Amino acid sequence: MPRMTFSTDNVRQSDTKFPAVKLAQNEYWRVVIAEPQPTYEWVHTLRKPKLSPIDGKLQVREVTNKDGSKREVTDMDFVGSPRCLGSIDILEDRGIDNDHCPACQAALDYPDFFTRPERRFAVHVLKYSTKSGTSQVAPGPLNLETKVWRMSEARYAKVAQVIEEFGGENPDPTKIDLVLGPCTNAMYQNYEIAGSPQCYVARDEASWARAVETFEGNNAGDLTPYCGRKSDAGQINADIKEIVGRWKSAQAGGAPVEQPDFSNTLAQSGAGLLEGATAKRSEPEPAPTVDLASGLDDTVGGAANDDPPFEEKAEAPAPSAGSSSGKTAVSFADLMGSLPQRS
Ligand SMILES: [Zn+2]
Repeated sequence: MPRMTFSTDNVRQSDTKFPAVKLAQNEYWRVVIAEPQPTYEWVHTLRKPKLSPIDGKLQVREVTNKDGSKREVTDMDFVGSPRCLGSIDILEDRGIDNDHCPACQAALDYPDFFTRPERRFAVHVLKYSTKSGTSQVAPGPLNLETKVWRMSEARYAKVAQVIEEFGGENPDPTKIDLVLGPCTNAMYQNYEIAGSPQCYVARDEASWARAVETFEGNNAGDLTPYCGRKSDAGQINADIKEIVGRWKSAQAGGAPVEQPDFSNTLAQSGAGLLEGATAKRSEPEPAPTVDLASGLDDTVGGAANDDPPFEEKAEAPAPSAGSSSGKTAVSFADLMGSLPQRS
């Protein structure tokens, strides 16, 4: 068994910590895309319902529709955003690959609990320093910062539309300034995207050199982890069990949730939990995926505030499917009794 000293040198750094495009309330950003092609992956968004600590029933919260009316929705906790295990060809063709991916199978078995995979995009952009509260570039040499912009399908479509509007037949996205804002909801990252007739990095050679230098000197490298978490079937199955178990518990009329509450592991851990705890999530979760949340606003029902923000839980160890020999999954086995078995 490996051992290591207590040293901050040994602390694992998340590989998705690069500064993201994230606007504050009412803020404007001016950016230019720094690479012609975004990275994308098919990704599952896994969520589980919150249960009331009092009666174990589904916890609901009130949301405001765009027209100002109110309604109640089931309050959800974010579980994870694993990359789909399906084959890319099948996914491009059918949008789902249940032969290779347990989360796709879950979306077919439990369409109320799981959604099909969606494409998630990530691209580097250069953010201009602008005059406070505006998208106007400050005079003098450009001041640029590299950021990672994560996009839902809907946001990707919007950006593609703007690029075509401003770039003509064969648009070069790296030569079109985009104005983001104003941000009308910082939590959900709702903001307009517009093209600008002027592109400051392309205005002269010095500015272009500055852009190249900024990007090459500081970028996140491979953006695949920003699209979704790397997972294997065991990890995804463990997530599925957790989610189905939560729903079944709620449906059973609020029986106590026997599965451990992984969101508070240290306080509640028993020996069994600790033993099973290390197998999962060797790869850090993506940082809070604000863009995913805003994407859902666009794609799920079209209402603005339908969905909770994707707040990643603190690293939540969970038993790995198949290797924890039921110690922490004792209650899972019962809960999962009626899960359809795959041949
Ligand atoms: Zn899948």
